[in-house]
Amino acid sequence: MALNLIMLGPPGAGKGTQAEAFAREQRIPRISTGDMLREAVQAGTPVGLAARSRMDEGALVSDDVIIALVRERLERPDTRPGFVLDGFPRTVAQAGALDALMVGRDPLVVVEMVVPTEVLVRRVLGRRICSRCGANAGPADPACAKCGGVLVQRSDDSERVVRERLAVYERDTRPLVAYYRYRPTFRTVDGHRPPDEVAAAIRDAVASAVTMGRPS
Ligand code: AMP
Repeated sequence: MALNLIMLGPPGAGKGTQAEAFAREQRIPRISTGDMLREAVQAGTPVGLAARSRMDEGALVSDDVIIALVRERLERPDTRPGFVLDGFPRTVAQAGALDALMVGRDPLVVVEMVVPTEVLVRRVLGRRICSRCGANAGPADPACAKCGGVLVQRSDDSERVVRERLAVYERDTRPLVAYYRYRPTFRTVDGHRPPDEVAAAIRDAVASAVTMGRPS
């Protein structure tokens, strides 16, 4: 059975870090729409040009653009054994489109990461990414652990933009909890713990959800 996982949670919940570790462990791709958009911005593609100002303001990029990106990505054969979606879906329209894309594939497992708001703001303001490869850095890393690149703050990680992104999460993305909550493959994980403990909790949550999702 393919492991088709969604990591759901506000900015700063640790989705990126956990999605990356989990995907590596399971040997399945991590699909981050935020990373795909940042790459498009850097490359100056039409999608990047359209997305840039929305991202800088902390607003969402249009559903049509994002759904097209994800549709194309999920068609690639490396997603057959499964995938970890990080940062998608973010609206009910995106979740509906994803359900349509999943017809004929194994059920989605949804893990919601819960972290108190004041912790989210603190985490986001403190985080750094690699200016070269885009990897997330640990709080004490002097340079990128993967490629040695210089660490920088993401352009949308300023306090004003972070507060806007949290408000957008509450308004547009929080409704996804209600959208998925009653599926037998929905799980909630406490993300306000050391990363290793969160990773173990995600592993357990996914293992129990996969059992529920198996056809009887
Ligand atoms: P992230 O790296 O997931 O925090 O995404 C950074 C920014 O990219 C967000 O603040 C949005 O502007 C945009 N973005 C990423 N994923 C989506 C999505 N699924 N829907 C709309 N906008 C998105």
